[in-house]
Amino acid sequence: MKLCTYTADGRTRTGIVVGDNVIDSGVAGTMTDLIRDWDALKPQLEAKAAAGGGVPLASVKLEAPVQRPGKIFAIGLNYADHIAESNMGTPERQVWFTKAQTSVNAPHDPILIARGTMTNDYEVELVAVVGKGGKHIAAADAPAAIFGYCVGNDVTERMSQHATPQWSFGKSFDTHAPLGPWIVTTDELGDPHGRGLRCFVNGEKRQDSNTQHLVFNVWQQIERLSSGMTLEPGDVIFTGTPGGIGAAMDPRRFLQPGDVVRCEIDGIGAIEGVMRAET
Ligand code: ZN
Repeated sequence: MKLCTYTADGRTRTGIVVGDNVIDSGVAGTMTDLIRDWDALKPQLEAKAAAGGGVPLASVKLEAPVQRPGKIFAIGLNYADHIAESNMGTPERQVWFTKAQTSVNAPHDPILIARGTMTNDYEVELVAVVGKGGKHIAAADAPAAIFGYCVGNDVTERMSQHATPQWSFGKSFDTHAPLGPWIVTTDELGDPHGRGLRCFVNGEKRQDSNTQHLVFNVWQQIERLSSGMTLEPGDVIFTGTPGGIGAAMDPRRFLQPGDVVRCEIDGIGAIEGVMRAET
């Protein structure tokens, strides 16, 4: 199933995406509430999806599928080509940082270039949305702990990222975590590894890889994170970006006002936003 959060007629709610239509889920609350009650809700949502109807997706505004995740964690240096372009060695341990909850952005909303910054960059990533979650989840049990997957752009202000050893500030600017366009549930997508993912700027392909090239795969990431913290429904995990970032181009090419950034993953969908100077 494909599940989204959308606004129509001034009301934000969750919906089921079927073809080019969205059907109101009828579930009270947010996507996080829906995820928490998924086992009980799934049969009725499947019935709604089968019944069809709804309204055209083009007539509603898609929001980030999870608008206020309890946690947003993101892994650094997790594709070999990105490690090489960053002039780093392959990490022995998973390198984790956080992105602020307030960095979440709708899939087609503008992405802000904050005042005084000139080194904004894109990072297409497979994003896992935690389902049941839990603590001390073994890699073998990780698939069952994940609700589904969406496309993310781990937008980064490079100067701020590299000004200090800890990256979270440079990764947490407002609008710098576009998510969407919807969540494809684990039972529909299956294994998230082996999916092509790409990023385009103004139609020019900048990143082009496959999730099979993750250094630490999604299951290992869940095992590592849950060894220290309880993963909860609706938590969001950025699983790493492949090579091709603007900071590694020669000469370096950072995002400018008006640039259109599109991130896509096979079997999930695409998100696309225009860069806009913060006023
Ligand atoms: Zn990243």
